[in-house]
Amino acid sequence: MLRGSCLCQGVAFEIHGKVIDLLYCHCSMCRKAQGSAFRARGKVLASEFRWVRGEERVRYYESSPGQQRSFCSVCGSSLITRFTDKPKVLGLALGVLDDDPVDRPLCHVHVASKAPWHEITDDLPQFETLPGGPLPPSAAA
Ligand SMILES: [Zn+2]
Ligand SMILES: [Zn+2]
Repeated sequence: MLRGSCLCQGVAFEIHGKVIDLLYCHCSMCRKAQGSAFRARGKVLASEFRWVRGEERVRYYESSPGQQRSFCSVCGSSLITRFTDKPKVLGLALGVLDDDPVDRPLCHVHVASKAPWHEITDDLPQFETLPGGPLPPSAAA
């Protein structure tokens, strides 16, 4: 079981399973949503995710059609992303995890949109957009 929480600790959640498809997304939406050089993210099964407290503090912002990014309405921490066309999967901002997801990010995506002031210094594969053709909504979180 993995635990996560927001900055103010008002919102907490549990994942009764694994985080999969970990990566770093450098797209401009993720940069703005995180206020950072990139978003470290993964995916979890909706059936394995549950709010432990503070669900009433969670707000959703539809950053693109069918994609709702959630955040704590008190402290602004990024939390999960919901996908209208893939309700069984949730995106997860790795930074709010309190436990180690064990797996590690495997690549950088949307490197073409990378912040000019940020330099990628690891040896992970880099993709201009997303590998494998058109953008699957679950990968754009
Ligand atoms: Zn909070
Ligand atoms: Zn992104």
